[in-house]
Amino acid sequence: MSTLFDLTGRTALITGSARGLGYAFALGLAEAGAKVVINARNVEQVAQAVDQLRAQGHDARGLPFDVTDEAAVAAAFAALDAQGVEIDILINNAGIQHRAPMVELALADWQRVIDTNLTSAFIVGKEAAKRMIARGRGGKVINIGSLTSEAARATVAPYTAAKGGIKMLSRAMAAEWAQFGIQVNTIGPGYIQTDMNTALINNPTFDAWVKASNPTQRWGKPEELMGTAVFLSSRASDYVNGQIIYVDGGWLSVL
Ligand code: NDP
Repeated sequence: MSTLFDLTGRTALITGSARGLGYAFALGLAEAGAKVVINARNVEQVAQAVDQLRAQGHDARGLPFDVTDEAAVAAAFAALDAQGVEIDILINNAGIQHRAPMVELALADWQRVIDTNLTSAFIVGKEAAKRMIARGRGGKVINIGSLTSEAARATVAPYTAAKGGIKMLSRAMAAEWAQFGIQVNTIGPGYIQTDMNTALINNPTFDAWVKASNPTQRWGKPEELMGTAVFLSSRASDYVNGQIIYVDGGWLSVL
């Protein structure tokens, strides 16, 4: 069997991985042999996700912190250092959505969405990359973008600005860190069935629009993004750098 995608001996931190896409990324990487570090703010959900992964025989540990809190992120990485845990793969996945017409959008809501979806990747990415560079063994960073990294939609302005920013932040990281053997890429998920979209899935008009506008005529499932994350975490992608891979069932292709 090919060892191209084997992640044995690697440790991955996936932010926002107690549920949804982040959990699927963690499971995919764990199935490929990685040790995984599960993060979210909700301590109980983190513990639950860790238990679920361990029950399947995977090596998982929890690390709850808020990705927007620079001091909390520094403390979390210091805790990993103290435990001798070295992060080889970082997936900046934590994200939130806030829907409102721009003329009704409060600055605080704009800021919260930008901080969680964009600034967090800088805060967490910096801590991880510092250590990857110091160790001299390279590493992988995957930032989670969106269809809105490419196409704007109404009522999600800060999310769109953040996800457009993620695409270029990834390229900036790739430009700076390639010399240290670190590859940085973005995954752009399409419309995926997770908690973030519960209201949209339950809205018959939106649900019908998603199905009508996608060549697959359906929503994506979190597990359908696992393979792309494994690829971008593995040596199979060692010369793939600064790219964005959309996993959207072809939605952008027919836009
Ligand atoms: P979910 O809402 O299902 O899960 C989000 C996760 O992020 C939760 O575990 C949540 O836990 C965590 N999180 C949120 N804020 C923070 C924070 N400040 N610090 C740490 N963790 C946090 O979302 P999805 O799985 O759907 O989304 C995951 C990523 O994929 C996001 O970046 C999203 O923008 C992106 N994406 C999703 C799409 C979709 O259709 N689902 C489409 C395109 C992109 P807690 O609240 O406990 O902190």
